[in-house]
Amino acid sequence: MKYDIIIIGGGIVGLSSALKLKEKRPNLKIAIIEKEEKVSRHQTGNNSGVIHSGVYYKSGSLKAINNQTGYKLLLEFCDKENIPYNLCGKIIVATDKSQLERLDNLYKRGIENGLTKIKKITSEEIKEYEPYAQGNQALWVPYTGIIDYKVVCEKFAEIFTKRVGGEIFLNEKVIDIKKQADSCEVITQNRSFEAKLVINTAGLYADSIAAINNKALNVKILPFRGEYYIIKPERTYLVRGLIYPVPDPTFPVLGVHFTKKLDGSVEAGPNAVMAFKKEGYKRTDFAWEEFSDYIFWRGFVHIMRKHWKMGIGEYYRSFNKTAFTRALQKLVPDLRKDDLIAGGAGVRALAADRNGGILDDFLFIQEKNILNVLNAPSPAATASLAVGNSVAEMALKKLD
Ligand SMILES: Cc1cc2nc3c(=O)[nH]c(=O)nc-3n(C[C@H](O)[C@H](O)[C@H](O)COP(=O)(O)OP(=O)(O)OC[C@H]3O[C@@H](n4cnc5c(N)ncnc54)[C@H](O)[C@@H]3O)c2cc1C
Repeated sequence: MKYDIIIIGGGIVGLSSALKLKEKRPNLKIAIIEKEEKVSRHQTGNNSGVIHSGVYYKSGSLKAINNQTGYKLLLEFCDKENIPYNLCGKIIVATDKSQLERLDNLYKRGIENGLTKIKKITSEEIKEYEPYAQGNQALWVPYTGIIDYKVVCEKFAEIFTKRVGGEIFLNEKVIDIKKQADSCEVITQNRSFEAKLVINTAGLYADSIAAINNKALNVKILPFRGEYYIIKPERTYLVRGLIYPVPDPTFPVLGVHFTKKLDGSVEAGPNAVMAFKKEGYKRTDFAWEEFSDYIFWRGFVHIMRKHWKMGIGEYYRSFNKTAFTRALQKLVPDLRKDDLIAGGAGVRALAADRNGGILDDFLFIQEKNILNVLNAPSPAATASLAVGNSVAEMALKKLD
């Protein structure tokens, strides 16, 4: 089981990195090791399915740069491989006068990021785009689209294994990495692999994998569950495309919103509640070993001190459907509580440092023979082919 490169994690970042590596060096022997029975089972497979335009990201940040390139690469890829998507556009609605300045800043940021077709629309014009939405002003973002990232990943996996000679090992959980002089031994519960270079794209567990060989690691990944409702089919006419609130820049999430899906259904959410387990998709999911690892950590205590109010608000809305509905009614006042049916959930990997700083941008940490993608937050799915390209470039430099 000797490889040039082993990639840990078959999410969209691991898969896109694998493809880009093969594109650059077809002869490399590369394998992906994934603990689940299928690829894209976690963040990638449970996300909102939005193709982000890049309107939110600070100009010059890795998020802005990767989203700009990744957006184009994703659409090209989907066109070539016949993967369905729909650039239905979205409106970001200021529901309160106090949000107008932030909306204005978003507009400027969007223009800085090259989105020349975005435009501000008045309260009356909102109705032309979304007849049931209401607000003081909004931003129309025609670039935003919807897609199913599970389908994208299945295609990535198919190309990697069937067209370019890569291998994917499923049901193989990495439990240890032993560094040798010029290689690494990657150990799963079933077998061991040898690789000149290991790329860690383990998403929610990227910190645990990195910490195996980096005891001084200053970053932990905190799991935040995003819960969704679905609008019952006879009321989906309330939403045509995507309706978002103006985000609070101090929080790393966008706020509950409406997302049209490719099958015509409409999702409402997600919120962001702290999970008691890394892959804690249900409120009752709990794993003491994982939970205690972060609640007793200094960074977590700092985060709670800074954001406890927001945390309580999110929990309240998680348990109280009336409060969740009220947040959504700010955008679409005609929505009623009984229009909402409980939907699925996704868990976000929120990376934080020891001082309670939430790491907002992509983070790569390199060690000898190991490249860790420690933070790949949203829009990593949209930007996956650009992120994969950067990972491949870094990896090849290390390998050489
Ligand atoms: C609720 C939610 C909504 C989002 N909405 C959007 C959106 O609309 N648009 C967008 O662009 N982005 C969105 N994102 C962000 C995006 O989905 C993620 O940034 C992206 O999917 C991260 O991909 P990844 O490959 O790093 O992680 P993952 O998809 O989590 O993949 C990591 C993989 O590693 C595997 N793994 C972990 N540990 C091990 C181990 N020990 N051994 C073997 N395998 C292991 C896991 O099983 C998993 O398959 C959203 C995220 C969430 C959670």
